[in-house]
Amino acid sequence: MEKLAITDLDLTGKRVLVRVDFNVPMKGTTVSDDTRLRASIPTIQHILDAGGLPVLMSHLGRPEGQRVAELSLEPVGRVLQTLLGREVVSVSECVGPEAVAAVKNAETGTVILLENLRFHKEEEVNAPGFAIQFAELGDIYVNDAFGTAHRAHASTEGVTHYFSECAAGLLMQKELDYLGGALDEPVEPFVAVIGGAKVSGKIDVVEHLLSKVNVLLIGGGMAYTFFKVMGLEIGKSLLEEDRMGVAEAVLKKAEDAGVRIELPVDCVVAPDLGEDVSTTVVPRDAIPRDQESADIGPETRERFGELIATAKTVVWNGPMGVYEMTPFSQGTEAVANALAQATERGATTIVGGGETAAAVADMGLVDRISHVSTGGGASLEFLEGKDLPGVV
Ligand code: ADP
Ligand code: MG
Repeated sequence: MEKLAITDLDLTGKRVLVRVDFNVPMKGTTVSDDTRLRASIPTIQHILDAGGLPVLMSHLGRPEGQRVAELSLEPVGRVLQTLLGREVVSVSECVGPEAVAAVKNAETGTVILLENLRFHKEEEVNAPGFAIQFAELGDIYVNDAFGTAHRAHASTEGVTHYFSECAAGLLMQKELDYLGGALDEPVEPFVAVIGGAKVSGKIDVVEHLLSKVNVLLIGGGMAYTFFKVMGLEIGKSLLEEDRMGVAEAVLKKAEDAGVRIELPVDCVVAPDLGEDVSTTVVPRDAIPRDQESADIGPETRERFGELIATAKTVVWNGPMGVYEMTPFSQGTEAVANALAQATERGATTIVGGGETAAAVADMGLVDRISHVSTGGGASLEFLEGKDLPGVV
């Protein structure tokens, strides 16, 4: 996927309007996690170094078209200022005369941060009359917000119709390089690991990856719908009865395509889910009728680990079990560690999905994975093979 990148453009003396993802977690009006701010810095710094003026815009939370004081980006701007060591000028509007004046009067070396885009209901409905106003705030438009690229909003899609030069920021470029590279020209063997709660949430990913991968490992809550198709007793484990047909079709499709699908061979079961429940490991054909399986068992962890170890490219989306609870976290931990080890041996490893990325972060393994996507929903849609409006 060839996209014009910010590094392809001459930014000297240019006002560069950047859609960033500053939708950071807040505690009151304090930023509680600055990961997304730090992730935006390479692009901002690149513009400054090239002699351009960065004009940043983002949404924060869900103000639903109202001006909500607690969702102002002003405190976010203060944190950014500290991280950058540069003056960040917060403007109390994102379009209109005040924003235009702030951009016009900006001194070189400063950074402009426009107010929360979603204070205007026109942002999410992608109103052309709103999007056109962005044209007054920059010479070049850059999208660096991969996390919102799956939404056709005024600041991600509409805006592009009013700029002659639109480009990907460094973060966006990195996402496209890794995710796009894995899907378009993966170095084989290509192993995908898919988990999470539901077949319905992941079936499009599974189907899309089937035409790309050599091996597909399926864990998480969706495995039990497959088990049911195979005639196994699944007890109280997650079942989507109306997806059994799809699961069956996937198994058939894999066989036709010569893709090896691996489902768990053993399970961690318990009568109920909880922090303090006592668990039992059983083979997959011995799940007790009155118990629920909520993680892959030790033999599966080993098998999955061995297959991941053979890979040159690994894509992982979806936890292997109810990892939020200690008794069911080992499957997810094992896969995360297997990816880290594969990375060390030179494989390209990619993690997508909000909860999967959070699990990897909790384990402190982000730096040992080639790429952990910053876009939860966006990375899923990408893996489903969909065109993301903000990328297009
Ligand atoms: P992501 O956000 O990474 O795409 P998902 O949203 O698809 O991941 O899935 C994450 C959820 O799946 C977690 O809350 C986890 O508890 C749940 N889950 C995983 N395995 C099971 C299981 N066996 N039974 C019930 N829920 C599960
Ligand atoms: Mg999720």
